Amino acid sequence: MKRTHPLFLSVADVAALVRQQGLADTLAGLVHCLDDDFRRWPEFDKCPRVASHSPTGVIELMPIADARLHSFKFVNGHPGNVRLGLPTVMAFGALAEVNTGLPLLISELTLSTALRTAATSVLAARALARPDSRVMALIGNGAQSEFQALAFHHLMGIHTLRLYDVDPSATQRLVHHLERAAGPGLRVQVCASAAEAMQGADIVTTATADKRLATIVHAHMLAPGMHLNAIGGDCPGKTELAPQVLQAAQVFVEFEPQTRVEGDLQQMPPDFAVVELWRVLSGQHPGREQADQITVFDSVGFALEDFSTLRYLHGRAQALGLGQPLALLPHQRDPRDLFGLL
Ligand code: NAD
Repeated sequence: MKRTHPLFLSVADVAALVRQQGLADTLAGLVHCLDDDFRRWPEFDKCPRVASHSPTGVIELMPIADARLHSFKFVNGHPGNVRLGLPTVMAFGALAEVNTGLPLLISELTLSTALRTAATSVLAARALARPDSRVMALIGNGAQSEFQALAFHHLMGIHTLRLYDVDPSATQRLVHHLERAAGPGLRVQVCASAAEAMQGADIVTTATADKRLATIVHAHMLAPGMHLNAIGGDCPGKTELAPQVLQAAQVFVEFEPQTRVEGDLQQMPPDFAVVELWRVLSGQHPGREQADQITVFDSVGFALEDFSTLRYLHGRAQALGLGQPLALLPHQRDPRDLFGLL
């Protein structure tokens, strides 16, 4: 009989996986998996995520499948949650066999979303940022920020970070963690405004959470050759970049139908030209074409990134013996005898 118990990965299991492998190697493994899956983009059955909006935030379901595997993620975004002692973003998800529907993995995805978002940011920046980028501004120093900072430090050669958050306690926490996790190879500078943080930056990562049409980056803050990794504008009515910033740049997105509604792109007319990242990764579009060009990765988070992450977690957890079988499904001698379980 087929094994019917999916593997369950708790937050503690994913944390143990990262500790055992090291954060840099885990992020590198994720970048590799993401790259593989983005390159075979046409093989996936894709749709924009299904979003349930409320006055305080959003809950989203993100399905995707190739011929072999299906995955989905449940994720929320509630910028006011921190005041209630809850994270802004919480998530879990599943991976299943397409030919039987059998779930293979149920996993936490809160920690994993931070890992996959940082890995996706690096994947995009490798193709779009100037290769000599060494200084990054990091605006919004919340839950995602350590992952972004360390991914760009370890995998992109960023040696100076310029930090800004409206809440100084968030920046203090980030500085404290980076001192312990990154060591002396990473210089950290605390700035008094987003504009100050962007001075001298090659890459600008915005990871703010505010449920309104905010403008964190204005066109006058841009310098030639900058790459913007904008991850916080990811929902209708929630933005970070002024429309003039997008006008001044070549804009790259994950899945255009979703980003038109959710990204900073929501502020632009429907015919504003963008390029999907997979086209760059698969060699169909050149990506950055000049050193002084401004590039924007208008990231909202797409289901493929969670598919790759679940696929990666499943393989690595099995190799390391992490996780527990979860008694989620009935185990019957006769599969039609459901009533017999009672
Ligand atoms: P968080 O609530 O933990 O942190 C957000 C930080 O932004 C807070 O410290 C807050 O003080 C700061 N902030 C708010 N307004 C600001 C402003 N005007 N200037 C500077 N700082 C400001 O949230 P998080 O989990 O770190 O997520 C950050 C954002 O990234 C959220 O909007 C989230 O929805 C988004 N996100 C996107 C993806 C993606 O794939 N694109 C993935 C995960 C999270």
